[in-house]
Amino acid sequence: MLNRPEHPTQARPTQPSDAARSDVETFTGNRGLALEEGLIFEIGRAEVTGVDLDEPAPFAHRLGGLEREAAIGLPGLSEPEAMRHYVRLSQKNYSIDAGLYPLGSCTMKHNPRLNEAMARLPGFADIHPLQPQSTVQGALELMEELARWLMALTGMEAVAMSPKAGAHGEACGMMAIKAAIEAKGEGEIRKIVLVPDSAHGTNPASATRIGFEVRSVPARADGTVDAAEVRRRLGSDVAAIMLTNPNTCGLFEKDIVAIAEAVHEAGAYFYCDGANFNAIMGKVRPGDLGVDAMHINLHKTFSTPHGGGGPGSGPVVLSALLAPFAPVPFLRRNESGLHLVEHLGEAPQAFGRITAFHGQMGMFVRALAYMLSHGADGLRQASEDAVLSANYIRASLADLMSQPFGDRLCMHEALFDDAWLKPTGLTTLDFAKALIDEGFHPMTVYFPLVAHGAMLIEPTESESKASLDLFIATLRDLAFAARRGETERFVDAPFYAPRRRLDETRAARNPVLKWTKAAAK
Ligand SMILES: *Cc1c(COP(=O)(O)O)cnc(C)c1O
Repeated sequence: MLNRPEHPTQARPTQPSDAARSDVETFTGNRGLALEEGLIFEIGRAEVTGVDLDEPAPFAHRLGGLEREAAIGLPGLSEPEAMRHYVRLSQKNYSIDAGLYPLGSCTMKHNPRLNEAMARLPGFADIHPLQPQSTVQGALELMEELARWLMALTGMEAVAMSPKAGAHGEACGMMAIKAAIEAKGEGEIRKIVLVPDSAHGTNPASATRIGFEVRSVPARADGTVDAAEVRRRLGSDVAAIMLTNPNTCGLFEKDIVAIAEAVHEAGAYFYCDGANFNAIMGKVRPGDLGVDAMHINLHKTFSTPHGGGGPGSGPVVLSALLAPFAPVPFLRRNESGLHLVEHLGEAPQAFGRITAFHGQMGMFVRALAYMLSHGADGLRQASEDAVLSANYIRASLADLMSQPFGDRLCMHEALFDDAWLKPTGLTTLDFAKALIDEGFHPMTVYFPLVAHGAMLIEPTESESKASLDLFIATLRDLAFAARRGETERFVDAPFYAPRRRLDETRAARNPVLKWTKAAAK
């Protein structure tokens, strides 16, 4: 039980029984208007349905003895029950539409409604990938225009539009690099990909998946990669480096040009993880830094929504060296307009195809709507404001929370570690869980791995100063409470979430992904 002492930093009445009350079990399982919701298998009944269909006319099936004999057993709900079920589930999502979402590395920025309206125009939303290309010229024009913007913003020669996520883009870019290496007859020799310690886990995973062997590059004390460390690892067996810029510590890789030169001198390629492009778009063109391939997460930088696992969109810009190896399909203009090059006969060096069709049309529309509504100057300002917001948070917390690489300017995200928590006995996880009770989605925790007990905060440019101020005040209040030794506020947090502290290790190691009657109790 918790008696929360008054917070001297905050003028609000103390409610000593808050936490005690949070432990009360209600009859319904609801907590006020936070409604409990069972799985559809638990609340549905096989005999109920929301639609009223006539019995089918007698027919002869052609299933050759494989037809189902028992009832299928799908749970049914009445129409209003079905609606409530899904609305309640949707309300369990914390979303960017509900509040500030400071998840570092993810760029959870506002998704303008204008983009949504454009994506729903029938000429974009109601077309089919297999309909004749003469009937979708407008959609192809949009893809071409978006491609032009991406190439202009990055200073690159070509762009593969079809990858459907950042990680998918990494795979695409690395496959283009592999094809280029094989075209030079070095496929058997160049097997190593260098990846800094601070990289997102998808980087080594993508390289490994494609058959490369990953060798890590340590960060130096200031959190960036040292060109000398890269040079030491380069050799005739190295295919590429995968470097993130700004890196996952929120720092600009200041040796990036020297690294690119060294990589090219060694006959290798430079893959840049462009997930953090939101910090530099309109300011720096990756092509000018010597990048050969870079994915762009439209669902981060260009404000398209992060769906529950999809659809994302991860176009890959390519340098002149890699452009010939871009996958099909891609757009080409001829006398009759735009057409998608679908076959390797028309693109003999293309490494192949990585998706069934041309990519995520809805995301393309949203991203271009964002670009056109901002203009080039507006995109530049979005980067500047994202960096300003991150530094405002960083500077406002620097007296209370420790920064692994010292008190210096960051790019679009502010990184703290847990050194300041050590004397309190609390962990990064405790601190993050207490933030849930305050109505915020926690920051990214324990990533990047190079910072002990990392807390990575990315506010983005779309938060107002008022909203940043409330977030900062909340973090300061929690930090003071931790320092005062009010551990009860943390160790069992969250108190107010629909579910309390979960066994996350067990959930990861032993996920229950399938409902079974026995487990339902
Ligand atoms: C988000 C992210 C990725 C992966 O992008 P997905 O679209 O989630 O596949 C890769 N690298 C970094 C640094 C990221 O932040």
